[in-house]
Amino acid sequence: MRVSNYLLSTQKETPANAEVASHQLMLRAGFIRRNASGLYSWLPSGLRVLRKVEAIIREEMDKAGAIEILMPLVQPADLWVETGRWEKFGPELLRFQDRHNRDFVLGPTHEEVITDLVRKEVSSYKQLPLSLYQVQTKFRDEVRPRFGVMRAREFLMKDAYSFHLNQECMDKTYAAMHEAYNNIFKRMGLAFRSVIADTGSIGGDTSHEFHVLANSGEDLIAYSTGSDYAANIEKAESPEPTATLAAPSQEMNLVDTPNAKTIAELVEQFNIDITKTVKTLIVKGATEEAPLVALIVRGDHELNELKAEKHELVLSPFEFASDEEIKDVIGAGPGSLGPVGLEMPIIIDKDVAVINDFSAGANQEGKHFFGINWERDLPMAQAMDIRNVVEGEATPDGQGVYAFARGIEVGHIFQLGTNYSEAMGATVLDENGKSKVMMMGCYGAGVSRIVAAAIEQNHDERGMMLPETLAPFTVGILPMNMHKSHRVKEMAEQLYKDLAAEGIEILLDDRKERPGVMFNDMELVGLPHVVVIGDRNIDAGVFEYKNRRTGEKQDIPFDQIVDFIK
Ligand code: ATP
Ligand code: MG
Ligand code: MG
Ligand code: MG
Repeated sequence: MRVSNYLLSTQKETPANAEVASHQLMLRAGFIRRNASGLYSWLPSGLRVLRKVEAIIREEMDKAGAIEILMPLVQPADLWVETGRWEKFGPELLRFQDRHNRDFVLGPTHEEVITDLVRKEVSSYKQLPLSLYQVQTKFRDEVRPRFGVMRAREFLMKDAYSFHLNQECMDKTYAAMHEAYNNIFKRMGLAFRSVIADTGSIGGDTSHEFHVLANSGEDLIAYSTGSDYAANIEKAESPEPTATLAAPSQEMNLVDTPNAKTIAELVEQFNIDITKTVKTLIVKGATEEAPLVALIVRGDHELNELKAEKHELVLSPFEFASDEEIKDVIGAGPGSLGPVGLEMPIIIDKDVAVINDFSAGANQEGKHFFGINWERDLPMAQAMDIRNVVEGEATPDGQGVYAFARGIEVGHIFQLGTNYSEAMGATVLDENGKSKVMMMGCYGAGVSRIVAAAIEQNHDERGMMLPETLAPFTVGILPMNMHKSHRVKEMAEQLYKDLAAEGIEILLDDRKERPGVMFNDMELVGLPHVVVIGDRNIDAGVFEYKNRRTGEKQDIPFDQIVDFIK
């Protein structure tokens, strides 16, 4: 590719409203442009990376025995009514009607559609196991889209679904998929971790998330220093609850509200038992005489935050006591927990205070963790001051102690059991001609989020440093004064041809730009190898080579450059 025929669209200034490095760099390097909140166009360089992510995922899915299909983004409501998710799914589900007033949704996920497809296509155990996957646009009306394509509303996901006659078969495919995910992220050169995960609103029993480790990650992972044990903090197993409140620090004060209290004060005043479930906590924490409700909210904190801002989420203690209410407000079924993260609101009657960087929650077994003053750049140890999964504490498997890391959820796999197939009557005839409900697994990977996560993990102050498997081009050719020097032009064209003949992807900067500008662009876009061609090195019989990651410079004789790079 020649820059003169390309849309490089780089920019020097760090864009306002882009908080994390990957978002800033994706804008600066001309990877993406925002169309509206959570909606992005992919420019050529970004798209090249996105396609590489897709290609690696496809190869590993194919290897794992999954077969590619494509399902519609727009889905009929009827299917969602069948599984009950038409009622259960919160406002992330975008619903609309066609001209005949029929209800539809923009698919946030495809369990309903795939189960409908398979119940019609598959009737015998002989057709099982079956794994199908697609790479398709998803739409989730995220309450606060942020960090560019990291949390978009429209995004690209690879979603696979497997169908089985029995648990043994399910386990086998699940293990193969787990392995495929390991391969995917290894091939991308990313530092990642597979962790035990909560199944959330998709449902099911066994589940793992794959996290790219990065300080900007929204999730917290608890892992053992002495074994492979690792879990999303939502799922981390703790010894018996031992939570004690640390001395309240400055940041724990609720500011700008007449009822300003520290969390410690709230807990004391309302005798909140933080060793019980959140629901119990809510009920215990409020009485009729004290209409003040201290609610440590779990679930979709962003939704809650928004509601809190709008003063919609103001509930008396008794209104809040029923499961239905909880379901309604939090958007998750009783007993299940949605994601717990930063910026949990604490709501005090009509005075709504949103405490940033406070997190609280409980897992399904009613065991708790509490985090406070959990700020992006605070050392994790400080963030852990109230929590019963404590850094340095022994682990559930008796090996090593707990440590914490931040992660970006890039993949999530589940054993769904018969949750969907049962509700939708997806059955096959077994060997004895008896009808059996199929077991299902589902396996998601955030294709577009992976691009951002990879950049989050691979950049420096000059720009991106994507691994070779993901970089938009492998080699940049920088001819100096090509428009004046015939020799330079000829050399550049020859090198382009020689590298292209090896199937290497090249970006040749043939603009009439100053060398500094060209260099900066190559570094910003992060091409792994840069070759400079000028009259001086032609005289010396060498190319000037620079490695983006190591910064190392080297003179390489003309006849060795192709071998050196490939
Ligand atoms: P999160 O916890 O970040 O909201 P999720 O658990 O809701 O993600 P899943 O339902 O597990 O997401 O979907 C599978 C994958 O799709 C996720 O692991 C993630 O990589 C990706 N994904 C989910 N939501 C988004 C989004 N809003 N923008 C980009 N990618 C997303
Ligand atoms: Mg999640
Ligand atoms: Mg989500
Ligand atoms: Mg998930």
